[in-house]
This record gives sequence, structure tokens and C-alpha cells, in this order.
Amino acid sequence: MAKTIKEILIAATQALAGGDSPQIDAELLLAHCLQRGREYLRTHPDSAPEAGSLDQFQTLLRRRQEGEPVAYLLGYKDFWDIRLEVNSEVLIPRPETELLIEAALEIPGNAGALSVLDLGTGSGAIALALANNRPHWQVLGVDISEGALALARRNAARLELKNVILAKGDWCQGLEAKSFDLVLANPPYVAANDNHLLQGDLRFEPQLALVAEEDGYADLFAIIESATAVLKEDAWLLLEHGYEQHASLAEKLVSVGYRDVEVRHDLAGHERVTQARWVG
Ligand code: GLN
Repeated sequence: MAKTIKEILIAATQALAGGDSPQIDAELLLAHCLQRGREYLRTHPDSAPEAGSLDQFQTLLRRRQEGEPVAYLLGYKDFWDIRLEVNSEVLIPRPETELLIEAALEIPGNAGALSVLDLGTGSGAIALALANNRPHWQVLGVDISEGALALARRNAARLELKNVILAKGDWCQGLEAKSFDLVLANPPYVAANDNHLLQGDLRFEPQLALVAEEDGYADLFAIIESATAVLKEDAWLLLEHGYEQHASLAEKLVSVGYRDVEVRHDLAGHERVTQARWVG
């Protein structure tokens, strides 16, 4: 007899045991293959999926057992209030990064038509979430990866955002001087020898988006220095970083001439975002 949704989920959850979230993963993958929302699984526990959907599900389940991130298997990830297409060219948007959005929306002087720069935009998560929430802001997202840019542009087009431009770029190089009210980045900040790179989703994500030289600080420091050229007077820099990096970043920011350095904590209680004002 054909298996029911309930039976399939029990078996799949067991197959994924040992992972971080076996039941949710199984539900997300099955709902995806049935082209339904996750709630459908609860309201139709006794219905039996067609063979085609079930084959597709078994394939995704096997890939998940091998460790492939759920977001890459589904092809999307929800971030803030938008859904983003993702693939292995980009970092999977994380809940921690929503802290950058929160900080940006609360930045002093945020009522005007701000000019905003997102460095290393990847899927476009930060640039597009801000553009979507502040239609009167003008947002530029840059990335050095052509693959990431192509994806970010598809995301912008699907969200029908008119106030965002996505361009190829190497941090602040070649950008107009003193032209931004707000610069944000979630740059690579993991040290090359960090064991986390060998665990979970990170094994499948682009090293370009994760790993930085100088113990994880090279890109954060490069941004702190080069952003001084593109920030307007009294404009803000917001950086996501590793949970032990705030103190070194604060020291660097002050030595370069930034003021009002403040840190924000993520939901796990870790220092995760540092903001600072460029006095010009
Ligand atoms: N927060 C990510 C992680 O360690 C790293 C993201 C990044 O390097 N920007 O899971």
C-alpha cells in the first residue's frame, strides 16, 4: 500500500536524526515536493503522495543525509520579510544577519531618503530587505562574484524593487566619494583554521563568502578603512562579525577616526553587529 504523509514523515525524521532539526527538515522537503505549505502535512496526514513526488522527496532526503543545506535543496530561504532564491554561489542568509537590518532601520537620521551601500551582497539579502522596507531609500549592492550578482539581480527582479542597483565591485573600490549615508556589510569573517568550516551548512557554502585572512579580520579591516572615502559626514557603518571580534573592531574603528561605536547582540546573546559613525 502507498505510504501516507504521516508514515513518510516519521521515517524521514528518523533518517535525519542526528542533524540539527530532523523533523522540520523532513517537513520542509516533503511540503516542497508536494508543492504545498508545511501546514498541509498536518491537515492531510493520511493522504498518500503520488510516486513522482515521493521519488523527488527520497532524492532530496538522501542529499540532506549527506549534509547539503536545506536552503540549497529547496532553492530559497526566507529572510526578514522577503523570500530569496539561493544557490551554492552565495551564503545562506542567516537570522543573525537580520540584526543588521534592525540596526539599519533604527539608525539615527533614518527618516530621509538615504543612500545606502551593501558590500558583498551575495543573494542580495541585506540590500533587498532594506530596499523593500524603505522605498524612499536608494540602495546599491556590490559583490565581486558574478554568480552571486546574477542571483541577486533575479531576486531584485522577482521582488519588483525599483530602488536598488546591483553592481560588480571589490568592496569600496571605484565608488563615488562621500556619497553614502549608510554602509553595511556581512563580509567573510571566519578564520581559515576555524573548525566550524568543517561542520553543518558551512561545508557547502562558498569559501569566498566565509573565510578571511588575518584570522578572519582582513575584510572587516579593509572595509573599515576604505569606507571612510565613500561615507558622508556623520554617516554610519554597520558590520556583522564573529562573536569574539567586537573588541578588536572597536579599537580599529576608533583608531581610524570613527565615533559612537556600539555593539548589538544576536538572539544567542553574542556580540554580532558593530555600528560606528564616520565624522568626516
Ligand atoms: N555567520 C556565519 C557563520 O559562521 C559566517 C558568515 C560570514 O562569514 N559572514 O555561520
